[in-house]
Amino acid sequence: MPTYKAPVDDTLFLMNDVFHLERYGNLPGFSEASPDVVEAVLREAGKFAEEVLTPLNRVGDRQGCTRQADGSVTTPAGFKDAFKQMVEGGWIGISVPTEFGGQDLPATLTVAVNEMFCSANMAFAMYPGLTQGAIAALLVHASPELKAKFLPKMVEGAWTGTMNLTEPHCGTDLGLLRTKAVKQADGSYKITGTKIFISAGEHDLADNIIHLVLARIEGAPAGVKGISLFVVPKVLVKDDGSLGARNGVSCGSIEEKMGIHANSTCVMNYDGATGWLIGEENRGLNAMFVMMNEARLGVGVQGLALSEVAYQNAAIYAKERLQGRALTGAKFPDKAADPIIVHPDVRRTLMTIRAFNEAGRALVLWTALKGDVAHRSDDQKERQGADDYMGLLTPVVKGVLTDKGFANTVMAQQMFGGHGYIAEHGMEQFVRDARIPMIYEGANGIQALDLVGRKLPKDGGRAVMTFFNEVGSYIKEKSADDKMKPYVTPLGGALGHLQQATMWFMQNAMAKPDNAGAGATDYMHLFGLVVLGYMWCRIAEAALAKSGNGAEATMKAKLVTARFFMERMLPETATHLARITVGAGSTMELPEEAF
Ligand SMILES: Cc1cc2nc3c(=O)[nH]c(=O)nc-3n(C[C@H](O)[C@H](O)[C@H](O)COP(=O)(O)OP(=O)(O)OC[C@H]3O[C@@H](n4cnc5c(N)ncnc54)[C@H](O)[C@@H]3O)c2cc1C
Repeated sequence: MPTYKAPVDDTLFLMNDVFHLERYGNLPGFSEASPDVVEAVLREAGKFAEEVLTPLNRVGDRQGCTRQADGSVTTPAGFKDAFKQMVEGGWIGISVPTEFGGQDLPATLTVAVNEMFCSANMAFAMYPGLTQGAIAALLVHASPELKAKFLPKMVEGAWTGTMNLTEPHCGTDLGLLRTKAVKQADGSYKITGTKIFISAGEHDLADNIIHLVLARIEGAPAGVKGISLFVVPKVLVKDDGSLGARNGVSCGSIEEKMGIHANSTCVMNYDGATGWLIGEENRGLNAMFVMMNEARLGVGVQGLALSEVAYQNAAIYAKERLQGRALTGAKFPDKAADPIIVHPDVRRTLMTIRAFNEAGRALVLWTALKGDVAHRSDDQKERQGADDYMGLLTPVVKGVLTDKGFANTVMAQQMFGGHGYIAEHGMEQFVRDARIPMIYEGANGIQALDLVGRKLPKDGGRAVMTFFNEVGSYIKEKSADDKMKPYVTPLGGALGHLQQATMWFMQNAMAKPDNAGAGATDYMHLFGLVVLGYMWCRIAEAALAKSGNGAEATMKAKLVTARFFMERMLPETATHLARITVGAGSTMELPEEAF
């Protein structure tokens, strides 16, 4: 059985020593997040993840969800009780405003907690995770009446949320969407259509399920400009807040799938279901983007979370499994063989995953921190800067952390040899579960296109220029410090590659968009390496400052891992640049019929 130890100390190091959460005390909710409160929250979350969610991960995978003859869905044994404990712990609403029953603590804290829950049991964590996304969209776009009706129960966890975009013929291209909305005399709408692949669409964990549904109002324009967003509860809610009749929405079937068996993936049938408009007519994508951006960060966290738990188990196994002798001579001559951790190739694998995880954690926390500034600061300029940053980095966090997260679960599985391929050690479940974050919330190829096609040129390149300035100034400033040189010098080279790639797109992709399309995934990963490298520099700086403070071994490990990243992972930026600058030529040359 796999085990999991929540990375509470590492998260605290990042929050306190690297990002200095205390410097954000002027933002609402941050003064309440004193270091001891943050530590208490993280330790409690870690305990819940380790003791309650981890043991259910295997059970959930084995049992999966079951659709009953009446259309209800039963979650695996133990899930109901664990969800009850999640509700009692108030975990869903830790960053939601107090007026809706939340605790208004920084969203950065929610992201840290969610990493632990996802590592422990990703399929379980999706139920509250989707609810958090739906809450975010309702908070920004719903009318005061709808907020009052739905939010408190969702924040409490008595009701959960979903997002309904996908239809059988309509995935990436939402302009094809057909679900119909017809306005009623009382201002509500009747929603009719079929949605597929709806995560947590039906289950037995909560009394009500609040679906956020994209649909086209009768007579609306074709394409994405005619899409509106609606809130459609499974059970109608009376004016006094109590539950009324069943709405016209039901689960037609659940998918049998590769992983996350414990999360129900549903076909949802809307048969004249009553819904209410959220935001403006035909501006549904705009409203749904709030949920999608939140969810994309959350999905990036899933990639990191699975990479972390897979790494932990691979590291334990590598210290136990005895095979062969160290190349430099027996390290444990009293044993029949040395543990495989003595072998450089095993080390290379473990170090690669570790170097990704520690910087990846920094990246999601830093991105979430920017999100907190964007949502909570009263300084317009500060909000805009942080919002630019979030927009730019969201596809990178989603695409890179999930591509690498999956690759890392495979590498961790490899550490077990044949014992990783069989089910006993649970490593193959991590691989199966880690596959879906690359696909949903916009497949990763689409994230790359979003970065190159939308985020780079947006506002005349303001966001990317700000990013270049920030990283460039940091490198310049720290280059004067000999101790920081081993980290900032390689980062300077990598940043140069990213700038060259950006310039190349500006000069070669306007007239030939295929050049942008063919290079987008490489650009996203090049960007990812640079931002992870930047995170490693920030971590190294904090580790150097802390080294003499009784944390020598941990901080030394940070510095070694930072060096490994710089020496062995960051150089890949040159390959990405080379691939980008050859353009679309050989990629697009063959005619369609040649495939
Ligand atoms: C387990 C699971 C859970 C899900 N949960 C939800 C949910 O809760 N709510 C929801 O609404 N949906 C959900 N989805 C749906 C998911 O978001 C979609 O599968 C995803 O958006 C891709 O759509 P598609 O499957 O139709 O693929 P398609 O859009 O058909 O894409 C197929 C491939 O073509 C590529 N492609 C498509 N268009 C382009 C383009 N213009 N340029 C380059 N490449 C392109 C894509 O990257 C992809 O690799 C879920 C899916 C699964 C499997």
